[in-house]
Amino acid sequence: MSQTHTPLRIGVLAIQGDYAAHAAALTEAGATAIEVRKPEELEGIDGLILPGGESTTMLKFLEKHHFFDALQIYCARHPVFGTCAGAILLAREVRNPTQRSLGVLDAIVERNAYGRQIDSSILVAESSLPGGPLEMVFIRAPRILEVGPSVDVLASRDGYPVLVKQGNIMAATFHPELSTDRRVHRAFVQAVTAARR
Ligand code: GLN
Repeated sequence: MSQTHTPLRIGVLAIQGDYAAHAAALTEAGATAIEVRKPEELEGIDGLILPGGESTTMLKFLEKHHFFDALQIYCARHPVFGTCAGAILLAREVRNPTQRSLGVLDAIVERNAYGRQIDSSILVAESSLPGGPLEMVFIRAPRILEVGPSVDVLASRDGYPVLVKQGNIMAATFHPELSTDRRVHRAFVQAVTAARR
């Protein structure tokens, strides 16, 4: 028998940052959210969200607890969604300053790219998700400077991608979990559903 009727189990990397808001958003989008803090907890998870927060802090934790390699393998084989610091972790290359990353998203990302004055802002703009303009909350956001040919840009700000999809990998430089609109989480839940079939 197929497993398509069991609810999707989607993990949220719960080391630091706003993972609780992502878990709530996933629940609203119809999935079962599972907090992940160790490699063993990736087992049986259909997809994973890497939340916003501080990418350097998450990176230090991953290295200290021997979790980096397992996470990298997981992200190369399953649907994953990185928001803000999570998008930085997924990128192929990180600048300002250079730091290690999981390298599964074909993108170059610059940290803290909007400067101190406008480091947090809300933008309402069109995206390729149906349903009209999307609210995007930016907090000390990175900028996606470049993407490879296999990356689709779903929304942009000032000509730079802010929401992208590369196969089953999604990344946003903003915080969709902080808005009430659940279209972005539903799009990820759909990607996870499609990958499980
Ligand atoms: N500035 C953070 C970093 O570089 C990201 C900010 C966020 O996730 N809201 O990791």
